[in-house]
Amino acid sequence: VRTVKNICCVGAGYVGGPTCAVVASKNEDVDVTVVDLSQPRIDAWNSSQLPIYEPGLQEIVEFARDGSDQRRSNLHFSTDVRGAIQKADLIFISVNTPTKTVGVGAGRAADIKYVEAAAREIAEVATSDKIIVEKSTVPCGTSEILRDIFEAVGEPHVRFDVLSNPEFLAEGTAIADLLSPDRILIGSEGTPEGLEAANALADVYAAWVPRERIRADVNIWSSELAKLAANCMLAQRISSINSLSAICEATGANIKEISHSVGLDKRIGPNFLKASIGFGGSCFKKDVLNLVYMAETLHLPEVASYWKAVVDINEWQKDRFAKHIIRALNSTVEGKRIAILGLAYKKNTGDTRESPAIAFIGQMLSERAQLAIYDPKVSYDRILRELGDEFGHEAVAKYVKPCESAYAACERASAVAIMTEWDEFKTDQLTPRPTLDLRDLTVSKLSTTPVAKRADSTSSAPSSQSEDNMSSDEEGRQCPSTPPTNTSSPTTELSDPTK
Ligand code: NAD
Repeated sequence: VRTVKNICCVGAGYVGGPTCAVVASKNEDVDVTVVDLSQPRIDAWNSSQLPIYEPGLQEIVEFARDGSDQRRSNLHFSTDVRGAIQKADLIFISVNTPTKTVGVGAGRAADIKYVEAAAREIAEVATSDKIIVEKSTVPCGTSEILRDIFEAVGEPHVRFDVLSNPEFLAEGTAIADLLSPDRILIGSEGTPEGLEAANALADVYAAWVPRERIRADVNIWSSELAKLAANCMLAQRISSINSLSAICEATGANIKEISHSVGLDKRIGPNFLKASIGFGGSCFKKDVLNLVYMAETLHLPEVASYWKAVVDINEWQKDRFAKHIIRALNSTVEGKRIAILGLAYKKNTGDTRESPAIAFIGQMLSERAQLAIYDPKVSYDRILRELGDEFGHEAVAKYVKPCESAYAACERASAVAIMTEWDEFKTDQLTPRPTLDLRDLTVSKLSTTPVAKRADSTSSAPSSQSEDNMSSDEEGRQCPSTPPTNTSSPTTELSDPTK
């Protein structure tokens, strides 16, 4: 029986960091080293200012990383990639797999160059047997590529067993998801050696996950595809309900009532059925496009176009939202102040990758609106840097003002766009709240121009919008909110207020 005593995780990002923190905290006898090429990222993991925000993450990292009188420290963060690989008997590959930007499949295929580079480095360095675990989300069949690399580059006497163990955590609830996963999938080649390796990984999880939730007998291709399939089906539900929201706006139907009624059907269930301005995050779009590309290369054009529509509806929904606001402001936004509450793609994370807020900001910048932006977890500097990188620093310096609070952003605004469903936008949770009560903060009270009156009819107070418009997205994530046109008639959320 193989046992794991030393784990290395290549990639200290949103997946590698939290996953290994939980693995280490639950397996005191196992040493876990998370490595990354980025020195600043590793420095941050070794400090009290972690590089990412997740509820509960700080505590769990400090518990395992710092140790105590009662417990040894067994979680390490390092840039010594080769040293950690050398020592490990199990290696998670947790690097990014973005959409390819150039070459064959650009704009659709997953770029696995970082996975490949990590595998090559492992193959070059390893002098003892290793269990290699694909944690990154990869196209179906990637394990074969890895096996080829190990065979071509690795020492002949070293055994490499490749497993697929996709990660299903959702940002914003990563620690809760990791502590209580719905399932752990471990795909292997199905050979006696492969199954032994799968069982060794299963034992690591069994330190806290009930055995019946650990499926260590899955075929490796199924395991790879299951992750893509799960993300695609979650994204598809969001696009489905969003497409129905447009029908509601054009008729008299109420999307909230539709979501509720449909969700009561046990075969459908209530999750991921709230209309929103669309899903964001680094995974949904890229994973759906990855599946689209796979279908294309497998000569299944009908399958490809079916899934492509999920992304198309999402883009359309984001665009519709921006156009609605522009129309509501008499189709002239130039010089008007728009408050943007939330830049992260969902609450409880500072992650802004593929955030619908950024797409919205792009549209508002092209209209030359003045943007006042606040997000509790995206700092002043990051707002300027990230938007500057995306839209040009000159334009951002001219039109974007990061704000220190929702109140400051909303002052003198002609419209308030709630882009992330942070609790503080609905509950007045955070302090200080010196002069204004968030519940009283309607657009009309802050606006000075007649146009704002029109805006008032399209964007109600943040506190009254939030609950109605939250929508689950990626892997249980919540989608940014869509300001309703008025609280009594949520079916007309994106309709033309002038009608
Ligand atoms: P990330 O960009 O936050 O982290 C990846 C890290 O890998 C980066 O810090 C990068 O510097 C590092 N890296 C890249 N190549 C390296 C190398 N050769 N050696 C050492 N470090 C290297 O990405 P993420 O969000 O953690 O996602 C990682 C994978 O997990 C992706 O495939 C993603 O699709 C998947 N996933 C993500 C989530 C999520 O919610 N973010 C959830 C489930 C699965």
